[in-house]
Amino acid sequence: MTELTDLQFDQQHIWHPYTSMTQPLPAFKVKKAFGAMIELEDGRQLIDGMSSWWCAIHGYNHPELNQAVTDQLQNMSHIMFGGFTHDPAIQLGKVLLKISPPSLDKIFYADSGSVAVEVALKMAVQFWQAQGKVQKTNFVTPRSGYHGDTWNAMSVCDPVTGMHQIFGSSLPNRIFVPAPQVGFHEEWNQADIAELEKTLAEQHESIAGLILEPIVQGAGGMRFYHPEYLRQAKLLCEKYNILLIFDEIATGFGRTGKLFAWEWAGVEPDIMCIGKGLTGGYMTLSATLTSKNVAETISKGAAGVFMHGPTFMANPLACAVAVKSTEMLISQDWQGNIDRIQKQLSVHLQPLAQLDYVHDVRVLGAIGVVELTFNVDMKSLQQEFVRRGIWVRPFGKLVYVMPPYVISEQELNTLLEQLAAVVKQMENAA
Ligand SMILES: *Cc1c(COP(=O)(O)O)cnc(C)c1O
Repeated sequence: MTELTDLQFDQQHIWHPYTSMTQPLPAFKVKKAFGAMIELEDGRQLIDGMSSWWCAIHGYNHPELNQAVTDQLQNMSHIMFGGFTHDPAIQLGKVLLKISPPSLDKIFYADSGSVAVEVALKMAVQFWQAQGKVQKTNFVTPRSGYHGDTWNAMSVCDPVTGMHQIFGSSLPNRIFVPAPQVGFHEEWNQADIAELEKTLAEQHESIAGLILEPIVQGAGGMRFYHPEYLRQAKLLCEKYNILLIFDEIATGFGRTGKLFAWEWAGVEPDIMCIGKGLTGGYMTLSATLTSKNVAETISKGAAGVFMHGPTFMANPLACAVAVKSTEMLISQDWQGNIDRIQKQLSVHLQPLAQLDYVHDVRVLGAIGVVELTFNVDMKSLQQEFVRRGIWVRPFGKLVYVMPPYVISEQELNTLLEQLAAVVKQMENAA
């Protein structure tokens, strides 16, 4: 029997995100990554346009982040959080309170974005349960949302792109309202909130919370909507006694041009989830923040405690690198830098809007999106991007980039020139 090559072993035994085990799309083997560059096993270098899905805000292999991990390693990589606490968790808490909505000062650390969403949903249910409102257990959410892949997170994802039909009645039945239609830069139209208002008026007695991604709907369609939607949603939540939950897992840490996207609307939620960029992409860590009122109400309930406690809660290595990453971000002129990236994205991407098979081009902060009129062939497109020395991973009709903030002007120019060239040659596929 001939030995499998590493890539063959990978294909035959290791599952990748959303892939078939019988016809997997090819995966490229990475040797290392540094700054905004990814180096493949065969020596080819790619300019990174994805930040490893919103995470690697400072790029890869950052000396200061490496140092933070190395330093923490000398003390301990992990210790249980039940009965113990430690410096990294406390320091991270202090940093987070500097940058989170002023009314949220209770922090629950969890191990991934999806789990932070699970925690948020559980908090909302326990909050009402503690007040004897035991019917308030359901959730309302706009369509086109994405909140993660675990069971309850999945239940509040868009029912079409979230593939609810596969899981059928095994998924809890959530209440969906239309996705916000008024774009970020468009003129507000009160009709955009009408369905939410109607739904809350009719069903508020069974609803614990409204969960949404503020300003940018990420994996559910890369849609940017009007800040007024959030202000109106907040008023409705107050009127109908519904907790407002913001999922800032993708939008956090400067990506939209504000440190967190809620700042565009000046609206503070009752519960907020963060993750992804929290550790600068070094390892998995998330947090669910909430208000004194929610935390104290839960703690006064019959259970007396909040019912969650992951094994790797507040992992010290992850917390230590998160402290360093976040301090690094807020101690620089991050806003000026995001502005620079936004301008470059606009200059290179906006002209593509003239192509008749490009439905829309939109840019916000360090996010640039080209929405086509047809679904792309991910396999051939991915190969073409790699051939041209860039890392861009399209899905559906969307070709989009969200580069690491450390990307140089020259690297970003090359990334966008190559991306634009590929989009321009797509005519045949249209
Ligand atoms: C990625 C993402 C999640 C899930 O995070 P994981 O770490 O993949 O579990 C949840 N919400 C939003 C908005 C995300 O972008």
